[in-house]
Amino acid sequence: MRLVTIAVLLATLPWAATAAPKWQTISSEPGKRIELDRTSLKREEGGKVQAQGRVILEKELIDTKSGAGYRVIEAITRYDCLARNANTIKRIFKKNETEIIREEDIKGNDLPVRSGTLDDKVLREVCRPAKEDIAEVAEKANEATTLLKQANDELIQKEIAKQQARPTLLKTSETPPVAASGDAPKSLIPSIRPNLKAAAEAAREHPPATPVKEIAPPPKTLPASNATVIVHTTSKPDRAKPKPAKTEGYMLELAHSTSAAQHQNIHWSYDGEGRPDNWAKIDPKNTVCGSGQRQSPIDIREGIKVDLEPIQFDYRPSTFRINDNGHTVQVDVGDSRLTLTGKTYELVQFHFHRPSEEKINGRRFDMVAHLVHKADDGALAVVAVLLERGQENAFIQTLWNNLPLEQKTPVSPPSLVIDPLALLPAGRDYYTYMGSLTTPPCSEGVLWMVMKQPVQVSADQIAIFSRLYPNNARPIQPSAGRLIKEGR
Ligand SMILES: [Zn+2]
Repeated sequence: MRLVTIAVLLATLPWAATAAPKWQTISSEPGKRIELDRTSLKREEGGKVQAQGRVILEKELIDTKSGAGYRVIEAITRYDCLARNANTIKRIFKKNETEIIREEDIKGNDLPVRSGTLDDKVLREVCRPAKEDIAEVAEKANEATTLLKQANDELIQKEIAKQQARPTLLKTSETPPVAASGDAPKSLIPSIRPNLKAAAEAAREHPPATPVKEIAPPPKTLPASNATVIVHTTSKPDRAKPKPAKTEGYMLELAHSTSAAQHQNIHWSYDGEGRPDNWAKIDPKNTVCGSGQRQSPIDIREGIKVDLEPIQFDYRPSTFRINDNGHTVQVDVGDSRLTLTGKTYELVQFHFHRPSEEKINGRRFDMVAHLVHKADDGALAVVAVLLERGQENAFIQTLWNNLPLEQKTPVSPPSLVIDPLALLPAGRDYYTYMGSLTTPPCSEGVLWMVMKQPVQVSADQIAIFSRLYPNNARPIQPSAGRLIKEGR
């Protein structure tokens, strides 16, 4: 009975009656401080996070509606990590940390987040890798840092022990050790000490679940009261356990997400213990990487020559976000799609491999770009554009010019627009077959369209990518009698 009363209270007096938020300062600047309540974080599918933040002003401002002075503004906002949009649901003006002056329910739209704003700062925080585990530990012991460091050290020790026990593991690495020059970027470390780095990474924090634009229905604007209840009755945030692999688990997968190995000690990679032939072993969700019969990439040969329907590319210029996600360089774009056999697939992102993952009649290319598309029903279609050494490629140069300085720290140039059409070869003939994602969890049912005509990139441009990823290609998988069609 008492519980019920409390529940009702929580639901009806959401703001006042809930457990005190745990405010953490995420930014401090002259005149104001920005704080975030990590216990309020509510992660949703499709890379959206609902969060409660506040600004504490040094000097009181006057609320024009009530005439009262306020120094604290709290807001509940839903952030779209991929699109970098924010949708504020509620705002509360307070005289001080406790005294409410006015509440404002907002039927907001998704608005782009400008850099330097409050939303920008909160978005950076909440869209970083999920840290619920840390929050939980902090709740219990308030010693998260110590515990994590301990765990981290232990893991590293374990990894060192393992490596010492099995020294041959490193030698089987596909990537030759890279000469470590003094200024070698962080990302070269995997080639040198892959296991340690993977372990340290996994222990330090969950890898980012690369947000993927969800093409399914746009976020509903929740009635403010509901929204508030959601936040405050959820004293513990939903655990960000990867959802069981339903077909729509593609959200996580198609961006070559790192989420699959989220709770594992060993992170998937292209060498070391996380190398491709171990993908199925390091996480049960990757089983199909080992047992699947329709895996990618393949050596494309003996295709049947037929008249293939032309792919209708409706690609348009858009702003972009470029991210070195630890496995590849990935570019997210908007407003581009292709149509094939009456079905439309939105272009979600594209990324690169070196060398090309797919072979054509036994031949590998210097690099490949994979343009990942998704239809409303979740079906995936990947267009592969083979890249070969030749003339400088202006499109690629624009991307490389904007490479983020650090891994997992995406860059969104505010005033730059790219047209993905510029990445396609002039000739649009292609090979097609059914395959899989080429990264964990290796889900099958992916329609592959590999453009027959390669596109040129300069030796320097290849070298730039190689410096980040000297080898990020999954080995060739058995084609197992699959039908391959070749346009003629
Ligand atoms: Zn790929």
